[in-house]
Amino acid sequence: MCDLLSDWTTFGIGGRARRIAVARSRGELTDLACEGIVLGRGSDVLASDDGYDGTIAINRYERIMRDGNTVTVGSGTRLCELCAFLAENGLSGLEWALGIPGSAGGAVRMNAGAFGGAVSDRLLYADIVRDGKPVRLSRDELGFGYRKSDLGKNDVVIDAAFALERGVPSDIKARGAQYAAMRRATQPTGKSAGSVFKNPRGVSVGRIFDDAGLKGLRRGGAVISPKHANIIVNTGGATARDVCELISVMKSVLLEKGVAAQEEIIYIGDFGG
Ligand SMILES: Cc1cc2nc3c(=O)[nH]c(=O)nc-3n(C[C@H](O)[C@H](O)[C@H](O)COP(=O)(O)OP(=O)(O)OC[C@H]3O[C@@H](n4cnc5c(N)ncnc54)[C@H](O)[C@@H]3O)c2cc1C
Repeated sequence: MCDLLSDWTTFGIGGRARRIAVARSRGELTDLACEGIVLGRGSDVLASDDGYDGTIAINRYERIMRDGNTVTVGSGTRLCELCAFLAENGLSGLEWALGIPGSAGGAVRMNAGAFGGAVSDRLLYADIVRDGKPVRLSRDELGFGYRKSDLGKNDVVIDAAFALERGVPSDIKARGAQYAAMRRATQPTGKSAGSVFKNPRGVSVGRIFDDAGLKGLRRGGAVISPKHANIIVNTGGATARDVCELISVMKSVLLEKGVAAQEEIIYIGDFGG
């Protein structure tokens, strides 16, 4: 199995991990939960060029179960699979997630959202492993905020249950397709980790970067997308160092404008402090 993190992240960037293990069942994921970092689809991370000196568990525990309007998923389930299942079964509430290339587990940790919707609107509970023990946390106990949850660094989501509403399958599909089209119109399709920075309340950092003329700025193989100034794209052969150089330019623009914005992307491995 390939131990290069570049093969397990949507950015296509990252050096070797000491060990990569793929979890394909609830039991395998639970066993690996205490060993290192769990990644779903690696769509919100920047992995170091030096890799990671530990175990990376790749979550492929995928299953979808329905009980009335409640759907419970294995945390490795891709959001696109979940959206397709919901549309087929006439269940509405997560259409906004179509086109987000992550897993359910990653989406719970990050409180993923788009077009005014977020995981926290629909999550009933998550079954997690904390310090080797299974715990069920309700939505309120997960401490959701904008693109964040209160899950601890070592908490691993195993299953997640969502409360949905009945709808007409063709309407649900049409809404999902509309969101996906809006996404295609405004976001690049190349290798990326989505938005680099979170938007502080009422502020569009993408607009600030655009006004500062950052679109198209390149360092090595990494470029600030000409389509969306808060997204960095690996146009081929980009290193984490290239990406970090662009992030540091973005940070200085934010500093100049007096805007305090936190990175949304998660750093994996050593970035030298
Ligand atoms: C093209 C593109 C578009 C995107 N658009 C959006 C968008 O519109 N809205 C949005 O919110 N995000 C967006 N993202 C970011 C990303 O897809 C989401 O945050 C997604 O939910 C992350 O899921 P993942 O499985 O890829 O997580 P990963 O990147 O694998 O992991 C992200 C973090 O979650 C942790 N994690 C992963 N799985 C688990 C688990 N089972 N239990 C506990 N912790 C876990 C990881 O350790 C890491 O800290 C986009 C990304 C891309 C590349």
